[in-house]
Amino acid sequence: MPTQSNSTMEQRTVAAAEQALKGHGAVGPIELLLQLGFLSQRAFDGWQREHDYYRVLEEHIECGAAKLQIVFDTFRRWVSEHGLEAMPAIYQASSVRETRDLRIVSTDNAELDRFYRTRYRRSDLSPARRKAIEKKINAAVELCVFIQTSDETICQECDARLGRGQMFCLERQEPLCLDCADLSHLEFLPAGDATLTRRAKKASPLHAVVLQFNRSRKRYDRRGLLVSRQSIDEAEDSMLQDADKRQSQREVAAVRREQADVALVAKMTGVIARLFPRCPAASAKVIAQHTAQRGSGRIGRSAAGREADERAVRLAVIAHIRHEHTDYDSLLMNGVPRDEARRRIRMTVDQVASQWEAS
Ligand SMILES: [Zn+2]
Repeated sequence: MPTQSNSTMEQRTVAAAEQALKGHGAVGPIELLLQLGFLSQRAFDGWQREHDYYRVLEEHIECGAAKLQIVFDTFRRWVSEHGLEAMPAIYQASSVRETRDLRIVSTDNAELDRFYRTRYRRSDLSPARRKAIEKKINAAVELCVFIQTSDETICQECDARLGRGQMFCLERQEPLCLDCADLSHLEFLPAGDATLTRRAKKASPLHAVVLQFNRSRKRYDRRGLLVSRQSIDEAEDSMLQDADKRQSQREVAAVRREQADVALVAKMTGVIARLFPRCPAASAKVIAQHTAQRGSGRIGRSAAGREADERAVRLAVIAHIRHEHTDYDSLLMNGVPRDEARRRIRMTVDQVASQWEAS
């Protein structure tokens, strides 16, 4: 026999399920718990980003077992009363190299796991609406880049040092430098100017969210975005066209462009001309600037010598071809694992590179 508080909980559950269904087009236990406030957005975000603290989602449900039972029983009943249609829910962490299922339950309970991984939608939807819902709720999680806040660590792939304040990706909880994650061609656009951020994000073929874990609040703070250089320029230009009062923006951009070391750019341009004589001048300029800009202490500035310069240039040229002459970025953006994306574009990259090499 339901007690007063049970029936209140049942009403709340039905209201939340209806709200979530209306908002997302489909609802599963996780959306329900979020709607009810038994799962915080903060915990959900941390889980999606694979923070160690939020590794198992179930452990962050803020609701007692008895109450949770009522919620889920009510939800199941509501689903069957409304003749809703089940669809698999994909909860995956997305990184540049692979996607993997996120852990929901703490025990080895396959049935419960399946329950959490099922969403329900109305069965009378048009095929177009159905497709739109699937696309919306199963969209790849945004690529994330993190700012190192604790002690120094190293890249699991190349052993590069990752000190405090540096950016890195996470791959199965292990740090990966931006070079190894194929994100080093992107530039950091600090948060703060919402319009600039929105336009650059839209214009960039690939973007990653830059996050910093806030220990005391146990959540991620957004610090900005990594986007393509060109998209920042485009976004800035479009804003300049919008209004003259944006003059200061242009000045900021000009200062940043000057940061590239002029002498080093010239040197790199020379190396490119020697190794890739048919590389178009515009590409050579971009590659040289980029290599010089982020090369401080790494390429050519120290006693690295000719060999190191050539190696750096080759890598930069390949990266440039990959990002500018293939659909590599959009493959990554659509959740294609890095290895697979590289395999698909390899032939195009080789072709362009050998065209540029021909003297
Ligand atoms: Zn690395």
